[in-house]
Amino acid sequence: MSAFRRWARLRHRVRDEMDDNESLGLTYEELIELEERNVMCGLSKAELVGLGHFEAGKEHMNQTCHICLEGVEYAAVLVQLKCSHAYHKECIHKWLSRKRSCPTCRSEL
Ligand SMILES: [Zn+2]
Ligand SMILES: [Zn+2]
Repeated sequence: MSAFRRWARLRHRVRDEMDDNESLGLTYEELIELEERNVMCGLSKAELVGLGHFEAGKEHMNQTCHICLEGVEYAAVLVQLKCSHAYHKECIHKWLSRKRSCPTCRSEL
């Protein structure tokens, strides 16, 4: 797709989401940035569910959730990421709905 067609399409879409007054002043670069930000934003509901979860056992007792900084309690519901860092399900779901990386080591999901 040519840059102009892409711009025109984006502009149309952005206009649907915003007030006309707000969208009219956007340049091509701003629109692209807006699109990239949309793509970069966090995981979808389905992706979050796809991460799975498990109940904390005795082996997790000495761990800390690095999002809320609280210790992991027995039978707490945890999610473990590919990088092997684990967090409370609630904490990591909130985080990943905004970002696509591990809050501790920043590795991409
Ligand atoms: Zn937590
Ligand atoms: Zn990590």
